[in-house]
Amino acid sequence: MSEKIIYRARWVLGFKQGEHRLIHDGEVEVDGNTIGYVGPQRAHTDGEVRSYADGFLLPGFISSHAHLCNHLGDRMMADNGRLDLFNCGFLNYLPAGREGRGFLDPDDPLVSVRFGIGELLKSGVTTVVELGGEVGGNTDVMVDIAGDMGIRAYITPGYASAHYAFEKGTGRLTYDWLPDDGEAQFEYALEAAAKYNGAHNDRVRGILVPVETVLSSRRLLERTAEESRRLKLPVTLHVAETIWEFHEMVRREKLSPLGMLHECGLLQPNVILGHSLFYAGHSLTGFPRTGDLEKIAAGGAHVSHSPFVFARRGIQLEGFQRYEELGINITLGTDSYPQDMLNEMRFASILGKLNEHDFRAAPARAVLNAATINGAKALGRDDIGCLETGRKADLVVVDMGRFGFGPMLDPVKSLVHIGSAADVRHVMVDGIVRVDEGRLTGLDERELLRQVRACGDRVYGSFADYDFAGRPIAEFAPPAFGDW
Ligand SMILES: [Zn+2]
Repeated sequence: MSEKIIYRARWVLGFKQGEHRLIHDGEVEVDGNTIGYVGPQRAHTDGEVRSYADGFLLPGFISSHAHLCNHLGDRMMADNGRLDLFNCGFLNYLPAGREGRGFLDPDDPLVSVRFGIGELLKSGVTTVVELGGEVGGNTDVMVDIAGDMGIRAYITPGYASAHYAFEKGTGRLTYDWLPDDGEAQFEYALEAAAKYNGAHNDRVRGILVPVETVLSSRRLLERTAEESRRLKLPVTLHVAETIWEFHEMVRREKLSPLGMLHECGLLQPNVILGHSLFYAGHSLTGFPRTGDLEKIAAGGAHVSHSPFVFARRGIQLEGFQRYEELGINITLGTDSYPQDMLNEMRFASILGKLNEHDFRAAPARAVLNAATINGAKALGRDDIGCLETGRKADLVVVDMGRFGFGPMLDPVKSLVHIGSAADVRHVMVDGIVRVDEGRLTGLDERELLRQVRACGDRVYGSFADYDFAGRPIAEFAPPAFGDW
């Protein structure tokens, strides 16, 4: 019988009658890996007491879309890129040809994945959906590290019918279709999903990830829909993510990317649509509105919204409020970098307001729901996503004592508009403390950062060998200021 832990905090976000409720001077009892009590502080208790006088105790956040690595590729893409790839970042650093090694493939998977998961935990994320591994098909290392570091994770190798290919020299972007239409990768993913499902005290679960709509044949998407229903597995993929993809899909299938998923049976309730920005009718598509969002709402699929990374490329969802009003369940993802759920909440709210020119849009309440309970719903889980007796003990304590928080009228609004991952003090997943006093437990953060920097120096230093045009990194990604 494990010891009870009693958390006391200035504010606790509990859950009652189907919604989050704020408790002043609240208490949460953790019994093993389960929540035993949520409510006002009680006079007597019989466990270890942890008190946070200026703390805000919330349910652990759910990142419904992330790539568990150190993002050497995306970190090259700030203020730069090819005009012919429109506003997209990642298309700029694809491998040349099927055999080419990508910047998406970590140089050192152990270091890279540890860093990615560490960043997530330190921002209060207790559950993450990984988008297919992107480590050449083998995600065993990722599962081992997730198990070791304790995050709840949905991991399975991704699969595709085709790969992007850059023509050597010209850099022309093409598609290289696999002779077996991705069947071998798909079979491997089914095996891996079955193998991982329930691993590490059920913190790791399987998921089907046809990585990108535009890289999938109609048949592969249909097979995914069928097998996910048969095996009761969730599905996630990238869709309606780039303008390039939108027009390629219209050319190829005479359909928008979301229209394609609709025809293939993938707007069903076990599917999380990664990004789902460019629906037919989004102002950058130049395409009439043909009911994509209505089809998502009717089918019951969920949207994973990662506002920050797209804002960095000059792109936004149109818009949070419209999706919600149509009845679409919006969740939040941290995608590439920074893996900071508080940053995503703030951008979801601010861009949601800008999009409508309406201060009432995307309120703090809605974006906090998106980071918690909506993610649980998208994963079909009734045991995570909120602080309620009987749910898993996944929780985060944010220190609201930083000078900049200032006067405190409503801690939820302050958290959304002022908070950052650096304010996260303590994180528990499945009843085990994974971040304490703001630092990851059980590993040397300083050493991990040193290793991550060394990976970056090594890879960036040899960029010219990798680039289709043989450019040095400073030409590909010119620094903000010149050298002294
Ligand atoms: Zn992604």
